[in-house]
Amino acid sequence: MQTQWNTFEADSEYIAGTYKRFPVEIVSGKGSIVRDRNGKEYIDMGSGIGVTAFGISDEKWVAAVEEQLHRVQHMSNLYYTEPCARLAAMLCERTGMKKVFFCNSGAEANECAIKAARKWAAEARGADCFTVVTLQNSFHGRTLTTLAATGQDHYHELYRPLTPGFVSVPAGDTEAIARLDDTQGVAAVMIECIQGEGGVIPLQREYVTQLRRMTEARGILLIVDEVQTGNGRTGELYSYMHFGIEPDIVSTAKGLGGGLPLGAAMLGEKVKDVFAPGDHGSTFGGNPVCCAGALSILSRIDAKLLSEVREKGAFLARFFAESGIESSGMGLMMGLKTKRNAADAVKECIDRGVLCLTAKDRVRLLPALNIPQETLERAAVIIRDVCLK
Ligand SMILES: *Cc1c(COP(=O)(O)O)cnc(C)c1O
Repeated sequence: MQTQWNTFEADSEYIAGTYKRFPVEIVSGKGSIVRDRNGKEYIDMGSGIGVTAFGISDEKWVAAVEEQLHRVQHMSNLYYTEPCARLAAMLCERTGMKKVFFCNSGAEANECAIKAARKWAAEARGADCFTVVTLQNSFHGRTLTTLAATGQDHYHELYRPLTPGFVSVPAGDTEAIARLDDTQGVAAVMIECIQGEGGVIPLQREYVTQLRRMTEARGILLIVDEVQTGNGRTGELYSYMHFGIEPDIVSTAKGLGGGLPLGAAMLGEKVKDVFAPGDHGSTFGGNPVCCAGALSILSRIDAKLLSEVREKGAFLARFFAESGIESSGMGLMMGLKTKRNAADAVKECIDRGVLCLTAKDRVRLLPALNIPQETLERAAVIIRDVCLK
């Protein structure tokens, strides 16, 4: 006899145990509202960890993806496809970066950024100059190399030996990096302008500009990891734009594909020609369906949308401050300091119909960039009430 299908049970039996899931099975949604199997509705304040930039099943994105699906879904990088080239051109026009490598995730975008930096430094500064410096409390991904780049020890345990050649230093200390460059040579420094997984902690403006000046003067590459902060999330297209700097390499993913897997490493003037055929690659990278969706997303992250993101972010910050809740972040990337345990707060938010995230000891909000103000306000009231309890 056939037993009734139960997703929770099948998941716990057959899915590798890497995730601690909440007991919620999402079956559908529209915009910033999602629905579970029991028909209960939630306001989505996490957007799949900053992925569904325009919410669930956004109509224009669906149309762009669907149109491409009917043309050709994949061709391999042995041939040309238009959406991939168009997206690269749009990214370069909007950032001033010169060339793009497409892949499928944030970790892979960082892998590419690191490979580009290592090769460039080996050629420009010598084979010994391979060290990549990252910041303590950073997060750069889950592959063995991007774990090595991640400046949080608890991710490393059990997976050693990690890729060698990474050192993490405290944010704010440019001297520590200069000393490393003097003693062993530094190929690149990789930063998140706002540490996302680390608790939604923005770097100091002064530090970022100083770091850019110091790395430029020494011929050290500056990589900005915009996997979480990118694609409009913070109220600028990329978060480095708040700081008035030009990185040498920018990695991004999450929101870029609007919900389909797509990562990109953007190469600036210095490193634009570092790769030759055969140096790097990805079977799925630049997939035309993902790129067609990303074109729809990126073309709508315009000045008007960015200013709305800033306004909504300012509204949230004001709203929580008025209730005595301290927030951090920029635009629609926000961390809330709560007296009670953040994970407990998130659980209670779920009970009350709001999906949000944690980052370290904070409640983290990453709603869709186009979340309607009225929906945002409804969620904010619930989150405030839960956080104050
Ligand atoms: C999520 C994230 C990554 C890893 O992205 P994946 O797509 O999960 O590989 C890397 N860097 C930052 C800053 C991130 O937030």
